[in-house]
Amino acid sequence: MKRVFSRVLLAGAMTFLLCAAANAAQPAKGFTAQQLKQMSTFLSNFTEVGLWDFDVRESGDDNVLHLGSDPSHPDLIRFGIRHNYINNFKNRVKPCKKKDCEYGSLTIEGKFVAETVKKYFDISLENSSVEDSDPSYHFDGKLYHFEGADGEAVYYAEVKQAARGGNGIRMTGDLYNAEDKDDRPYTFEAMAKPYKWNGKDTWVILSMRTKPVDDGADKSGEPDMAKLLARTKGTWRIDGEKDTAYIVMDGKGNFEAYYASGALEASGTLEPSEEYEDVYIYLLRDKSGKDMDMGFFMDSDTQLHFGNDEGPVYIRD
Ligand SMILES: [Zn+2]
Repeated sequence: MKRVFSRVLLAGAMTFLLCAAANAAQPAKGFTAQQLKQMSTFLSNFTEVGLWDFDVRESGDDNVLHLGSDPSHPDLIRFGIRHNYINNFKNRVKPCKKKDCEYGSLTIEGKFVAETVKKYFDISLENSSVEDSDPSYHFDGKLYHFEGADGEAVYYAEVKQAARGGNGIRMTGDLYNAEDKDDRPYTFEAMAKPYKWNGKDTWVILSMRTKPVDDGADKSGEPDMAKLLARTKGTWRIDGEKDTAYIVMDGKGNFEAYYASGALEASGTLEPSEEYEDVYIYLLRDKSGKDMDMGFFMDSDTQLHFGNDEGPVYIRD
């Protein structure tokens, strides 16, 4: 699909302006402590089963799982079974009726697994066996057979900040060890979208990324601008497609934006600015140094998106 850079710029600029104005005027307004707690519980459903780096896209950045790439994605099935094993064991997990079943001593109906995936991801799961996994999950057409196993250390999410932005609500915070609340070796950034489930307001997950606390910007003082800019180096294309508008960044703070035709549309410099705690927006300035009223967020080292709308993502070549 061909898209023109200027349209993206315009949409990005307008939504960014609106968002920036809202943030500036009402820094404290947003979500209540109670809502942050509900978000923490929501995200802990993913982190407790070890799902830490993923999104629901069909493709993109190689460093994360793209759960939208396959309606029988093994990690969706694993999530659906593990979630019920941990949270609904009494009601939904039954001993296998077959003596010495080769596929494991426990079963759960596939419909419950699919329901859980729908509830948390809004993805319609197609039940299927996951054999090359430990433990494996065998689907017989109605039931999954599996062996119960207690996982490794469990981490829960604590949302410290949330703001409307990107494609939904951006939630940031820490992951902490379920056995020791002071043990917080990771920070996360998640995107979720408001969702109705059985008439109740909840969210569905769009993406989650975690990183070790040591890996971020320098907490002791000024952010490391050189490091922040270095992340931008590369050629960025809409949805990673070759025939679209693209942006070239040198990793030192300069950018050039091109039309799909290859003609130069704009060039200038980038200015990282902290939008939320440890989350930077890269503001664009034109060659004369004039603020272009737009900016982008780095979703990961290989994906970024402009503004705060439902706009396209850019993938690094
Ligand atoms: Zn069985």
